[in-house]
Amino acid sequence: MNVYLDNAATTSVAPEVVKAMVPVLQESFGNPSSSHMVGRKSRVLIEQSRRRVASHLNCHPSCIYFTSGGTEADNLALRSAVRDLGCTRIITSEAEHSAVIKTAQSLERSEGTALDLARHLSDGKVDLDHLKSLLSKGGKTIVSLMHANNEVAVIQDLNVIGSMCREAGALFHTDTVQTMCHYAFDLQDLPVDFITCSAHKFHGPKGVGFLYIRKGVHLKGQIEGGSQERSVRGGTESTHNIVGLAKAMDLAYADLATHEAHIRALKSQMVQGLTATIPGVRFNANSDSPEELYTVLNVSFPPHAKSGMALFLLDLEGIACSSGSACSSGATLGSHVLRALEFHDPERASLRFSFSRYNTAEEVDFALAAIRRVFS
Ligand code: PLP
Repeated sequence: MNVYLDNAATTSVAPEVVKAMVPVLQESFGNPSSSHMVGRKSRVLIEQSRRRVASHLNCHPSCIYFTSGGTEADNLALRSAVRDLGCTRIITSEAEHSAVIKTAQSLERSEGTALDLARHLSDGKVDLDHLKSLLSKGGKTIVSLMHANNEVAVIQDLNVIGSMCREAGALFHTDTVQTMCHYAFDLQDLPVDFITCSAHKFHGPKGVGFLYIRKGVHLKGQIEGGSQERSVRGGTESTHNIVGLAKAMDLAYADLATHEAHIRALKSQMVQGLTATIPGVRFNANSDSPEELYTVLNVSFPPHAKSGMALFLLDLEGIACSSGSACSSGATLGSHVLRALEFHDPERASLRFSFSRYNTAEEVDFALAAIRRVFS
């Protein structure tokens, strides 16, 4: 048996998504910018997809800008805020995805943008008092803090952080790559200026995502070229990928509660199985709590002779998961997130298990048995 428990890294493409994409590849090959019928057919598919995406998020279709994925969308938000909107400071956190933290550091070097890092509390939540004090000073600011952390599952309260940003006159970008299609979003209500999406995290294709840009915020963008995506993002649109993204989103939001209940049950089966059989097991950042991202569990295993090989040994057993941090015998420094949030312990191996609607209870039992063999 092969068990895939690395759905925070990427997901399998849903069969219905493949089915929606194939005819586009076969028949709707026209350039969406061409004025003839073949091109217009592709344009219609893209605009229909944009409308469907917008309807799921309760925003205007013109707020959705398709990109090549989450990394490009994160770059677009931060780089444009600095270059086009006059932001002279970025507030972010060391626990952000590297698409955000490295972009912020790069802007600090190339544009002289001030960079302030919000502190975290011991459970991984952003320290709101510290954020408030950072917001009370400094020039025109964009805050970039993710909704759910991809490694340790900690969720930040977007309403609270967004309202603090509004009050302080700062722009707010949040990376929602791990929560989009797992939680409902109402962008008429949520105090955000930009959110990021990546289709391959919810059974869509790789190489496509979008940035939501609040109405009234005008960017020039970062990729020069044609006038695609209202000149914010030059380059011929990937019609089949955009159609695939919209289909994946339709599937996710049509059955959100059912998928959520199924995934939560698998995660709690894993938590109970580990707690019962591995003495001293811990869950980093309370990732076992129902309050945190329900698709991700970050497990800290007690010191063990085979800890450094755990990922490799599980792979041999047919289990795909991912390493959070290497233990003392590991070759790398491990996860920047675990280090930033102070969950890194050189004596203990941390592994991330992440679940999807396609996983089953039998697979979790199989994984638990393999984990027991590795850590026995
Ligand atoms: N942001 C987060 C939180 C992620 O987990 C990822 C993917 O790992 C990304 C951004 C990057 O998305 P993409 O792979 O579409 O570039």
